[in-house]
Amino acid sequence: MHRNVPHTLIDPCNRRLNYLRISVTDRCNLHCAYCTPLEEDRRLEHAEILRYEEILRLVRIGVRLGIEKIRITGGEPLLRRDLPTLLAAIHRLPGIRDLSLTTNGLLLEEHLERLVAAGLRRVNVSLDTLQRERYRRITGVDALERVLAAIEAALAAGLHPVKINVVALPGVNEDELLDLARLSLTRPLHVRFIEFMPIGRSRLSARPPLLVPEIRRLLAPLGELSPVPRDEMDGPAQRWRIPGAAGEIGFIPAISHHFCRRCNRLRLTAAGSLRPCLLSDREEDLKGPLRAGASDEALAAIFLAAARHKPSDHALAAGEPAHVCCQMQSIGG
Ligand code: SAM
Repeated sequence: MHRNVPHTLIDPCNRRLNYLRISVTDRCNLHCAYCTPLEEDRRLEHAEILRYEEILRLVRIGVRLGIEKIRITGGEPLLRRDLPTLLAAIHRLPGIRDLSLTTNGLLLEEHLERLVAAGLRRVNVSLDTLQRERYRRITGVDALERVLAAIEAALAAGLHPVKINVVALPGVNEDELLDLARLSLTRPLHVRFIEFMPIGRSRLSARPPLLVPEIRRLLAPLGELSPVPRDEMDGPAQRWRIPGAAGEIGFIPAISHHFCRRCNRLRLTAAGSLRPCLLSDREEDLKGPLRAGASDEALAAIFLAAARHKPSDHALAAGEPAHVCCQMQSIGG
């Protein structure tokens, strides 16, 4: 492909898509009540999952089309063997301005040194509770201590920011949101509260979601929060700080407040498809053409088609159920 491709990933709503989230595996070492399918899950065969060299080729093509920001996710990305090698290769690509990782933290501490050496500068760790038994109940694994140790290790290794992703789970952790927010008081953590999205076959889908206005009401005992100015590379989080706190609090109103207007994301699934919207099942297959010998130009055309088919909006805000059958694990959240 020529260096100066005349096209960039701009969708029909004039959104510039410069952010690619890559799910490197559909496997996970947790079985979260709100994320894992109830029935025997249909895991991808090893050969169906994109290999690192395939991911890298696609990222290179994406970068030429304007991708600047990459997040590695899953499943649990740290289950994928030798992940730092992939990170290092992406980090070296000219044009990549931001590289991050979303993990449940179970394997983070043991891989931290290599991840930092590979160029990782920040990390998101998912943590929905600070209570050991509740953590076990939500995730199916008794690993809270390990995750907390990994968060400390990430801070000590100089990763910044270390973001804590808390999904606000109605009937599960609303009594703990204050404690979770207070993690940002003494540590430079960015604690972000994410509205639960009724997606896939979660066991929580039937409950009405806990929306940001209600989350904020639950956090009222913290007093008035001060707004933190937004950064150019910021995602949809609304950023705040408890006065005097070392860290921040963020809200991700996935449902209550459309951020579709500013959505700059494409997702590359573990199975090798491009997904223009998390909440729509429409995908463009890249792996088939890639393995059939497609040229860079042909693959770039598929990226551009995904951009053309990015929905302007999703229907969840209107209270409609998501018509999404895929699980978060293969898409990457
Ligand atoms: N295994 C990694 C982890 O736990 O961070 C990465 C993949 S996980 C699917 C990414 C994020 O999606 C996690 O923070 C998880 O809590 C969140 N998530 C999963 N299902 C969700 C849902 N239905 N609504 C909102 N967030 C969800």
